[in-house]
Amino acid sequence: MSGTVSIRTYGCQMNEADSEAMAGLLEGEGWAVTDDEAAADVVLLNTCCVRRHAEERVWNALFALRARAAEGGLIVGVCGCMAQWRGEEIVRRAPHVRVVCGTRAFARLPDLIRRAAAGGAVVDVGEGGLPAGPLPRTRRGALKALVPVMRGCGNFCAYCVVPYVRGPEESRPPGEIAAAVEALARDGCREVTLLGQNVNGYAAAGVPFAGLLRIVGGTGIARIRFLTSHPKDLSDGLIRAIAEVPQVCEHLHLPLQAGSDRVLERMRRGCAYGRYRALVVRIRAAVPGIAISTDLMAGFPGETADDFERTLGAMEELRFDAAFLFKYSDREGTTAAAMGPKVPPAEIAERHARMLDLQSRIGLERNRERIGGTEEVLVEGPSARDPRRLFGRSRTNRRVVFEGDGALIGTLACATIRDATPLTLIGAPRAA
Ligand code: SF4
Repeated sequence: MSGTVSIRTYGCQMNEADSEAMAGLLEGEGWAVTDDEAAADVVLLNTCCVRRHAEERVWNALFALRARAAEGGLIVGVCGCMAQWRGEEIVRRAPHVRVVCGTRAFARLPDLIRRAAAGGAVVDVGEGGLPAGPLPRTRRGALKALVPVMRGCGNFCAYCVVPYVRGPEESRPPGEIAAAVEALARDGCREVTLLGQNVNGYAAAGVPFAGLLRIVGGTGIARIRFLTSHPKDLSDGLIRAIAEVPQVCEHLHLPLQAGSDRVLERMRRGCAYGRYRALVVRIRAAVPGIAISTDLMAGFPGETADDFERTLGAMEELRFDAAFLFKYSDREGTTAAAMGPKVPPAEIAERHARMLDLQSRIGLERNRERIGGTEEVLVEGPSARDPRRLFGRSRTNRRVVFEGDGALIGTLACATIRDATPLTLIGAPRAA
């Protein structure tokens, strides 16, 4: 069976990587993957359910496809986390959905579509491990690539659905990852991001994540990034690898979530604030100039005004280079959903706004510290806001916009920084 298929991706970079893998699998079976959803024979939504809002967006998108599906011919599929979480419920609420493919059933996706085309709806939220050998994939951006190194998570933080929808941790063999990165480098890719829900828990063939970074550093790739690190598993060996492997960029995403030990304990994070702070001190000493970004949450059940002040205090003390700031929302089935007392939504919104204000100031201050310095930039293309300028990311993962020749696109260029906003460095080019 063949035709055209479009894939719409919601959520995190792991979902983006899964969508690439799905596209690769389907292309291998003769499907043409298209961005033109209106003309596609099959529309797949690769979904996220980490926050309630993410699920609502998917339900709205599904209902918007109902009329087209009713005309006949179109196969609508739901894949990924929400498919795993909701299963049959999706077909009950949206009977025009013909394929539900959970996170561990991706390898069976072409077959599920074939069966749905024969009539009826097919739901597969069954088990399946990582496929043997590298997944076929279709890369959208030649310069940068996402490389999943592991799947799943066994941490069960109280607010998080990931362990329920993605299953336990499972690591890909280091040789397979190295071969995939080598092939990418040969193909002109300059930067890979190694992905996992908790890459610090990576372990395969006796190789920990620090060892994997050293192996990938020898593949010919110019830059290596990785996401996400859990502070409780961040070893000194990993800090040494970040410092010693020249291809590893000076950026670490290290979710803190809250500044209050009482809240961190209720979240089951397994890392008190003092230990987190000591880690940050060690990392900054070992890797001068490293950027540290984080995740923080406002309004976890039982968070008092005093607890929240501790989160603001942590932000002031640690001065993160960037922070992803979230409002807590209940996810049914998680431990936190059953916890009380709930913080009123208006209070959560106010706390969230205070975090945004504070991070905006700190982000600007951190970026201003770079003025006068030189940044190595992987030039991705023209700036979306001002096509006369170029856009890229520095090694510390900062957005950099600078004036330069279009011939620099695809290269590692140097820019001298002359101005800064909270989220962007503005530079002039310099001879590399
Ligand atoms: S470490 Fe915690 S927050 Fe991260 S995916 Fe696992 S359970 Fe969720």
